[in-house]
Amino acid sequence: MLKIKNRDQADSRIMISGLVIMLICLFACIIHISDLYSSFKSQINREFVRETKASADHVEAIVAEKNSYLTSISNELAAALSNGVDEETTADILGKYDSKEFVYLAYLHKAGGVYDSDGEWNTDIFRTIQDTIAIFKRPYIELSTEVMDENGNHTLRYVIPVYKGADICGHVVAYYKYTGWFEKSEYSYVRSRGAVYLTDLEGVFYAAEEEALFVKGEHKNLFEALYQNSDFTAKSNTHITDIKKGMQHSRSEQNSYIDHVGKKVVMVLEPITNSDDIFMVCCYCEDDQVEAVKPTILRSVIVCILIVLLMICLIIYVWASAKQSNMVIERLAYEDNITEGKNTNFFRDKALQIIATNREIPFIAQRFDIVNFRYINEAYGHTRADEILKACIDLKEKFYDEKELCVRMDSDQFLMLSINDSSVDQKRSDYMEAVNEFARSIGVKYPIRLKFGVYQVRKQDLDIDLIIDRANVARKSLDGDETKLIAYYSDALVQNMRKVDKIESEMAKALESGEFKVFLQAKWDIVENKLAGAEALARWIRSDGTMIFPNQFIPVFEKNGFIEKLDFYMLESICRLMGNRVKEGKKICPISINQSRLLLHNPEYVNNVSKVISAHSTPTECIELELTETVFLDDRNRMIEIIKQLRNLNLKLSMDDFGSGYSSLNLLKDIPLDVLKIDREFFSEMITSETSIIILQKIIEMAEGLGMEVLCEGVETEEQIETLKRLECRLVQGYYYSKPIPLEEFIEKYLT
Ligand code: C2E
Ligand code: MG
Ligand code: MG
Repeated sequence: MLKIKNRDQADSRIMISGLVIMLICLFACIIHISDLYSSFKSQINREFVRETKASADHVEAIVAEKNSYLTSISNELAAALSNGVDEETTADILGKYDSKEFVYLAYLHKAGGVYDSDGEWNTDIFRTIQDTIAIFKRPYIELSTEVMDENGNHTLRYVIPVYKGADICGHVVAYYKYTGWFEKSEYSYVRSRGAVYLTDLEGVFYAAEEEALFVKGEHKNLFEALYQNSDFTAKSNTHITDIKKGMQHSRSEQNSYIDHVGKKVVMVLEPITNSDDIFMVCCYCEDDQVEAVKPTILRSVIVCILIVLLMICLIIYVWASAKQSNMVIERLAYEDNITEGKNTNFFRDKALQIIATNREIPFIAQRFDIVNFRYINEAYGHTRADEILKACIDLKEKFYDEKELCVRMDSDQFLMLSINDSSVDQKRSDYMEAVNEFARSIGVKYPIRLKFGVYQVRKQDLDIDLIIDRANVARKSLDGDETKLIAYYSDALVQNMRKVDKIESEMAKALESGEFKVFLQAKWDIVENKLAGAEALARWIRSDGTMIFPNQFIPVFEKNGFIEKLDFYMLESICRLMGNRVKEGKKICPISINQSRLLLHNPEYVNNVSKVISAHSTPTECIELELTETVFLDDRNRMIEIIKQLRNLNLKLSMDDFGSGYSSLNLLKDIPLDVLKIDREFFSEMITSETSIIILQKIIEMAEGLGMEVLCEGVETEEQIETLKRLECRLVQGYYYSKPIPLEEFIEKYLT
């Protein structure tokens, strides 16, 4: 059976796994976004490094080109000077060369003369560098600190030695303007996102633009400029020292620092290989670059959020569907579709809980059903019958506490857990009355009678099935008993049930193997003091010799229908016996056989009796069939018809046990019977007082008046015989004359 607890666990398992999946999803999204973020960053960085290199290559190419241009001037000057041209003539030679790209292009003689293409010369600048460059034995290309271009930017100074033989006679000195360099496409990526500088070891630099990014205002030194607003701390100094060390070894470097507004600036350094300590430096603000890709990242974040939201919705949906199907399962498992109340599963779960949590309260389990519910169904239709079932559940609320339960098990079977206090009986009858009232209100006139089987729950009872079964044992004990509406469980009841079970399991085999024996009890004519006949009574003698009396098995057989077989067996045995004895010319006497009311319901009954009689050529006048009053409770007219048919077969009929049940003298006038057998109990009570004797006398007179013989059963004493003689009751049956004895013994005693 499905337990709520298990379903709750299943619910939380779905929820937990959903949450785990969602967290994994969330985690994967975060990782994906951070990967995306860092891959963007490294892509930007790669792009900068690539472009810085390309820029450096570009600068290198220009530097090399100018270098070879100036070297060719130097060579021509060297050749001319070697050929004895005087130094002033150098101006003419220089004049041939295009000096537009240079701020100055001059030949600086070792001895101090300065010659340029125009012959005009600002000797001051050259004087400041003359001593420094005098020792340059190879071309030197550096950033100039002494000459600026017309935009105020540093220039690139070329110093190319001019040899006369093995000696240096002077140097070609040129200051190159970078104007236009950075307009080239090579720098487009860097320039659109950052800044480009040329710098040397000392931080002398050339910026791509006047107001270059990161370098605000007038600055002579790039490092100082870059760090101008950030804390120029020891760390920054170390940083710069590190950069310089890298530069001294002409290494490509990457550094980053946090600028004055707290943004991270990445600095990429690339040496200009054919120069002296000139570096290409590209700076970009990483945060700004990331800002540029933020929309892309944002889109990814939104997609991730949508995925997570989708996951949440999915989880909620799965959880809600699971919850809903659980509710459906729970309804199917715990609800009864006809009454819309709860069912046995619910009772099983709940009843024990209630009993366990209310130990001080005495409880009873009651199983009840509606007497003749089948009839209500057939006579009033299923809809109204179902309404009555529903009322049984609904009306419980009116009379019983919430600790008390009432569920329908199936068909018209109900189960109740009630408090066993002083009002329990009153509540039960009020409840039954309310159900009746409801039935009447929907037009069901048939009285609703509920049959209750009650079991008193004990403290040690922990098995709900046992509790239910015991209440059921009590209820079942009422089966076939129309008079009682309530039965209480007892151990004797169980023993009885076991006996019934045993009887039912063995009966068929017992009949087959002849364990049912015919006993005969004499009927006596007390006037003539002679045998008047006998009654055939069944005895079950087991193979071990134990005898079972009819009061133990007849009620069981009447309930399960086996009585039909036994009665026919008895009838056939007697018919065979009588037929055979007649054939053999032996003495016979009238014998009566008990016939259950069930037999008469079989449409083939009369036919079957007739067949048995003819089969054994039984003299019908010596066969008497005993019927009880209950036969006529059913369908009186039909029964009268059957009785007529039996009489047509020339059989004698008697009414057995008259006075034991619903005796109606009225009945006798309509039903054509031959013998009236007054019940043993009725008779023994009758003869105790004079008035009773008068009643008995009148019954005898009336029966005789109707043409019936009267037989008194259970005659045990002489006194009784005397009374009966006085009352002119001719026939008796009882232990006074004979107990029922085995057939053979009877024959031996009376018929030989
Ligand atoms: P019954 O038909 O009224 O049979 C008479 C019962 O009263 C017999 O009980 C008999 O033994 C008992 N009896 C007779 N005289 C006396 C007496 O003086 N004192 C006392 N105390 N009892 C006396 P038995 O044989 O136990 O049968 C009981 C009932 O079982 C019968 O009552 C009959 O209704 C039923 N029965 C027995 N055999 C059959 C059968 O083959 N078929 C059917 N349908 N019912 C049978
Ligand atoms: Mg009888
Ligand atoms: Mg009887």
